[in-house]
Amino acid sequence: MNTATTTPATTITPTVDFNLDGKQHGFLKLPHSHDDSAWGCIMIPITVVKNGKGPTALLSGGNHGDEYEGITGLLKLANELEADQINGRVIIVPAMNYPAVLNGSRTSPIDQGNMNRSFPGDPQGSITERIADYFTRYLVPLCDYALDIHSGGKTLDIIPFAAAHRLPDSAQEAACIEGAKLFGAPDALTLFELDASSLYDTAVENQGKVFVTTELCGGGTSTPETVAMADRGIRNFLIFAGITKGEYHLPPVTRILDIPDASCYLLSEHQGVLEMCVSLGDKIRKGDLIARIHTLERTGERPKEYFSKRGGVLAARRHPALISMGDTFAVIATDLNSACLQSEPI
Ligand SMILES: [Zn+2]
Repeated sequence: MNTATTTPATTITPTVDFNLDGKQHGFLKLPHSHDDSAWGCIMIPITVVKNGKGPTALLSGGNHGDEYEGITGLLKLANELEADQINGRVIIVPAMNYPAVLNGSRTSPIDQGNMNRSFPGDPQGSITERIADYFTRYLVPLCDYALDIHSGGKTLDIIPFAAAHRLPDSAQEAACIEGAKLFGAPDALTLFELDASSLYDTAVENQGKVFVTTELCGGGTSTPETVAMADRGIRNFLIFAGITKGEYHLPPVTRILDIPDASCYLLSEHQGVLEMCVSLGDKIRKGDLIARIHTLERTGERPKEYFSKRGGVLAARRHPALISMGDTFAVIATDLNSACLQSEPI
């Protein structure tokens, strides 16, 4: 018995024609009635570049509004990429959660929506859920390859890597891991997520697409080096997708890291001032002192000390020094290249 009900259509209207050859700059228009604009729309910038039949890549940044490498790299690509340089189609959305990007915040100031916890989305839900739904049901089905560029944002600093998830379909998983390696960040990573159910990543992977995500440093800003990494990675991804021709620009060695389970994530059970005792990229042995947390309530208290439960590499750390209960302050990844050389169990 078919009990499925029809999902309502999106309220978003694109001003670009996805089937047209050439280059178009336009908007995804999302009606949003509020005090300053009774019949207003949120205008999410989008660029489509198309040249004949061929694969489609969907490139997104600004999934979180305070992660600037993807936003910057994709704004540059939208200026630079021309139809005669490609075979197929490239859809560029530099600021996926546009209200959050304008606000410089991880989540939307309109509905506090965290885009990467809002999938598959809802066409009649909040503003953030409506954007998520449009990606899930309208943009992702158009693509063969999707690249979503993240960084750490204001609260995390992360060693630069491209990542793929473990997937039930081994051929799809292999293609995603290959894409992550060929993005050309210094590290490639296979990733366990604390909660994958509402990620954009999962919505794309569930449609059988080749999906690569990244974390390119963080702290709520960018540097010449991290933007260059995004620029190179985007160009490498288009070659990987078969949309452009050219030479890959890859680092001499791409380290392969793995975040296999929740034990990689160190969460605070105290609040106060975070004193990190290791630096990003440091090799960690099981039992190493990772951080102290000093209480701000009184003097004379010994700090709480946190030790690593595994060996590996410090792949991410909390960026602000103030820390609360439940904040992740360190992520320790296994270095698969050297895992067999480690004397400590991991
Ligand atoms: Zn992010």
